[in-house]
Amino acid sequence: MQTYSTMRAAYEARVAEHARRTGPFVGGCAWVRGEYVPAEEAQVPLFDLGFLRSDLTYDVPAVWDGRYFRLEDHLDRLERSLAKIRMAPPVSRDELRGILVELVRKTQLRDAYVDIIVTRGRFKPGTRDPRNTETALYAFVIPYIWVMPLDQQQAGGSAIVTRNVRRIPVSAVDPTVKNLQWGDFTRGIFEALDRGANWPFLPDADGNLTEGIGYNIVMVKDDTVMTPGRGVLEGVTRKTVLEIAEASGLKTHLGDVPIGGLYDADEIFMCTTAGGIMPITTLDGQPVGGGQVGPVTSAIWDRYWALHADPTLTMQIDYE
Ligand SMILES: *Cc1c(COP(=O)(O)O)cnc(C)c1O
Repeated sequence: MQTYSTMRAAYEARVAEHARRTGPFVGGCAWVRGEYVPAEEAQVPLFDLGFLRSDLTYDVPAVWDGRYFRLEDHLDRLERSLAKIRMAPPVSRDELRGILVELVRKTQLRDAYVDIIVTRGRFKPGTRDPRNTETALYAFVIPYIWVMPLDQQQAGGSAIVTRNVRRIPVSAVDPTVKNLQWGDFTRGIFEALDRGANWPFLPDADGNLTEGIGYNIVMVKDDTVMTPGRGVLEGVTRKTVLEIAEASGLKTHLGDVPIGGLYDADEIFMCTTAGGIMPITTLDGQPVGGGQVGPVTSAIWDRYWALHADPTLTMQIDYE
């Protein structure tokens, strides 16, 4: 990770600069029922089906150094998710983009985690017909979240393949719709912690790798970068990783990844918007490859963060 120290120093300087800002929204801002409110004061109505039934979808883009990264990819995915679960978009795409920019402006955050949640709203009194509800939009912007803390990313983390829980079948919950039916993931994180690790990797019933608690999983073997092609959320970070790998002359495999192959990997990393490229150097208590962050992971890590300044993939925020 050649760019690690410069990237980290610049990020920490922005965080320190933000800490000197004052105002009601510097800790975060939420958009709830048509109003901008300090994130800590935002509330969800009890009868919203998002709360009562987890009947919702969501998406998480991020802002890095004052720019939205691949926002249109996140909005495309959100629209596809809404269509799959038969929810009407609560606002137009342009209105949503406007709210998302305004939220960031209100916080003045240069590096932010952005959550857009669309719920089915609530049943009309006396009915339980999901076709007759008005979908509701919630959104919030808070300081950038690291699923794997930045200072752990140089040494890499410790993962396990779960034995006590499998990913919920695709035939029950469509994993390509970003969702919060996290029963399997929650069992997974407990199992990982019980076994002295931090990151659960969930297999499916056929013994193939799926994903973990909000991240896709990528393995490198020789000159091939492999990641599960089905049974997982189609991550924007995963897409960026595959594009970087192809542009660097590596081979890519977007298809089944049998669990057995993982133990034979040269390198493994996880990827998500909230944390980027997160190296795994221990799997089930054994070192992965040489037990250190490998050269392919390192090169992808560098390129991933460099792309956050690319004007074709980013949208600069006007903070004035
Ligand atoms: C959000 C998420 C990911 C990562 O998606 P990105 O678009 O890269 O942030 C992977 N798996 C699950 C289950 C997720 O919820």
